[in-house]
Amino acid sequence: MGARPSKARYQTRNTTAVAVKQEPPSPVEHPYHYEAYKICSSKDILDLFKLYEEDPNISKKQVLLVVALDQSNNSIRRSFDPTGLIRKIIEEKERQKKDIAQNHLQNVEFTPAFIRHDIATLDQLVNLMATAEKEGSHIKAVGSFYAFGNVCETDGILVKTDLLSQCTQTDLSRLTEHAKADAEKNDIVYFEVLSGTTFADIIKVLNKHNRALINLGGFTGQSIAGATSTSTHGSGINIPPLSSMIVSVHLIAPGGHQYRIEPSNGITNPTAFRSANTNVTLIQDSEVFSASVVSIGSLGISYSFTIITIPIYSLIETREMLTWETVKPTMMTEIVEKHRNGEIWVNPYTGEALVTKRDIATKEEIDKYGNTISIQTRKDLGSFLEHPLVKSLAEQLGTAVGTALGNLMHLFPHYIPQLIDTALKSQYHKTPIVDTYDNIYPVGIVNDFPAISIEISYSIKDDNHILATESAIKRLQQLRDTKKLSLTSFFSLRFVAASDQYLSMSYGEPRCAIEFPILYTDGHYFPEVYKPLIEDALRFGGRVHLGQWQPPSFNSHYLSQVYPDGGLTAFRNQITKFDPKGTMTNTLLRQLGLVPNSPLEPVVRDLAF
Ligand SMILES: Cc1cc2nc3c(=O)[nH]c(=O)nc-3n(C[C@H](O)[C@H](O)[C@H](O)COP(=O)(O)OP(=O)(O)OC[C@H]3O[C@@H](n4cnc5c(N)ncnc54)[C@H](O)[C@@H]3O)c2cc1C
Repeated sequence: MGARPSKARYQTRNTTAVAVKQEPPSPVEHPYHYEAYKICSSKDILDLFKLYEEDPNISKKQVLLVVALDQSNNSIRRSFDPTGLIRKIIEEKERQKKDIAQNHLQNVEFTPAFIRHDIATLDQLVNLMATAEKEGSHIKAVGSFYAFGNVCETDGILVKTDLLSQCTQTDLSRLTEHAKADAEKNDIVYFEVLSGTTFADIIKVLNKHNRALINLGGFTGQSIAGATSTSTHGSGINIPPLSSMIVSVHLIAPGGHQYRIEPSNGITNPTAFRSANTNVTLIQDSEVFSASVVSIGSLGISYSFTIITIPIYSLIETREMLTWETVKPTMMTEIVEKHRNGEIWVNPYTGEALVTKRDIATKEEIDKYGNTISIQTRKDLGSFLEHPLVKSLAEQLGTAVGTALGNLMHLFPHYIPQLIDTALKSQYHKTPIVDTYDNIYPVGIVNDFPAISIEISYSIKDDNHILATESAIKRLQQLRDTKKLSLTSFFSLRFVAASDQYLSMSYGEPRCAIEFPILYTDGHYFPEVYKPLIEDALRFGGRVHLGQWQPPSFNSHYLSQVYPDGGLTAFRNQITKFDPKGTMTNTLLRQLGLVPNSPLEPVVRDLAF
């Protein structure tokens, strides 16, 4: 049994932001919420916890209500099952459905013709790509399978790439004299990385060589191919998405044709390459390269990449608890433009904002603060998860404690603002922390929550991103007031430099990416919350993250409104060149008009959500 969290530790600071309305839910429209409200209507979750501890009748009611709401939503896979019968039936069904493909969160499920788990060599991959095209079968690669949308879906062959995992130093004899001189001058070392290798595994190898990746997102579980093909990014107005670390791609196109694709001034020495590689065509052309990394697997399957690494570095991270209103006026000049990484996490309901600034640590800073990252700053959030009510719910629902807390928030929505503030504060630290980059960037415990998210990137011209943020706050508050639906997390603003990759969310200009995570407790709930945000996305020219959740309205018409026409046309031309028969095509690519020989005029579809 976890210790009861003390009230003082969770007290939220007064804020000037909008007060949250509190009216009882309608007993007709929201019967479960009405019952819950009768149990406890205070805004402080500790009162709910106290009732659980002090009154056995109420504790029973609390748990039963969550379980009943959960079952009525038909959202969680396992229900209350004292005899174990339901579990047995589900397990049997799962055995029968072993060829069903499911992403990590289990919000995406499809049935490919078959799944290849055994691809471990280049020859196997080349043969498979040749066979797929010959037999007219679709084919798609999957990396770590984290994407929340339908980017991995196929009705043909699904190729698991986890056995394609390796990271080794590049053979310099392959490179041009110019690339070698450039590497020496800029202290760059190139590495060859197989496409299924996760960032966590790449980092392990690089650490042994005292090398590092230029930047990271908040998580390292993705494969390099999966992450870069969706334009995954960290934060830094001067740092492009992670795809920018790739300088050369070994692509296996349908038919088993092999290409080494690089920008026009590529690193590979063509003469040396051609004499050593008769089966691989070298293409050094920036127009082709700009379609070859962020591609959601539409040109073929990447076998490996050459990446840039820099000397290992430490970061100093400072954090401040402010409010959105105080951050907003000087956000760009004081946070984003002054620091290597600046990001802001905002509670849309209280206006509390956690500001993070990171820079390369100097020797003095390393000496002063040492390697100070610790999980201590996260313990407030941890003790909520350890509360007996949350643990008991997790047991009854057969879920992780994060999901149980999400269910509780769903039933008692009046605690959401307070819980989000607690989550923000759990990440705050008063003194700066210093550690190597791989210990600072990953956000840790927040990644352990079963959450889904949508992320939308906005142009920062004329404060467009600030207008979009303000609008999102207003929309989220309205939704909470009128429909009692809430975002169950803070949202974050990160900044990304321009990318040359046509499909990148930051193609052509630096952008601000706003991510809206929500605990994944109810499959029907989150699209309702995202609906007004998507409407706003179009109003403010927002581009949707390809590796997060995409709304049904994300189609060719949408793309043509938010991406410059030239880039999309250039991208489609490359699809036509590498995949003329549409072997890589899937439902999403068709919906986006990213198919071979697709008409230049995009298909106009119903934009309704
Ligand atoms: C906990 C968590 C934290 C996250 N944090 C961030 C973050 O900080 N910043 C951010 O921008 N995003 C973030 N994301 C989003 C995440 O980076 C993307 O969903 C990413 O695409 C997942 O990588 P994956 O290896 O799981 O890809 P998958 O889901 O396996 O695949 C994604 C796409 O890549 C294609 N693909 C995979 N392998 C190959 C290959 N060998 N050749 C060709 N195509 C291939 C697939 O066909 C698919 O189209 C996060 C997601 C999670 C779950």
